[in-house]
Amino acid sequence: MKQVVVGLGANLGAGRETLRAAAWALREAYPDGFAASPLYRSAPQDCPPGSPPFWNAVVRFAVPEVLAPEALLDALLALEQVHGRARSVPNAPRTLDLDLVLFGEERLETPRLIVPHPRALDRDFVLGPLAALDPERPWPGSGQPVAALWMAFPGPRTLELVAEVWC
Ligand code: ADP
Ligand code: MG
Repeated sequence: MKQVVVGLGANLGAGRETLRAAAWALREAYPDGFAASPLYRSAPQDCPPGSPPFWNAVVRFAVPEVLAPEALLDALLALEQVHGRARSVPNAPRTLDLDLVLFGEERLETPRLIVPHPRALDRDFVLGPLAALDPERPWPGSGQPVAALWMAFPGPRTLELVAEVWC
């Protein structure tokens, strides 16, 4: 089995309920070792002016070795569609964003998929929840524990803890 981390975000529509429904769907599809971070709100970053704040969390689960990362990406994009995700301009407000943050300790780059997610280490709303969920997890390549990366994170830090248990 391979440990996967998925980042969840939403700043349009039902927000918290959408994240909960998406987390439930992921747990149903990938029950092995499933665990969720606390739930947070974060300020919109690199978004059009006036964008609402985000709901954010990360989840982790184990997938069989035979599951290709692109197949998991397809499942995540399909789940975004179920929740009405529309792609207009980059960084537009969205009903649901599911990012493949980590796929085991793999590092890969294809036209459709870069893992670890290329902006994960620049984003408080990925690193903060992951540090709460999985502080000891080594970052692929550097081997640095997530908690150390989060402690050294230069900011901006916009996270507000909403709930420890939410899904
Ligand atoms: P972002 O999440 O960066 O705001 P989008 O959700 O609109 O951007 O994703 C755009 C594309 O990014 C996806 O269609 C996918 O092919 C690509 N992509 C590359 N790497 C990843 C990854 N690790 N997780 C999710 N999408 C990725
Ligand atoms: Mg995305």
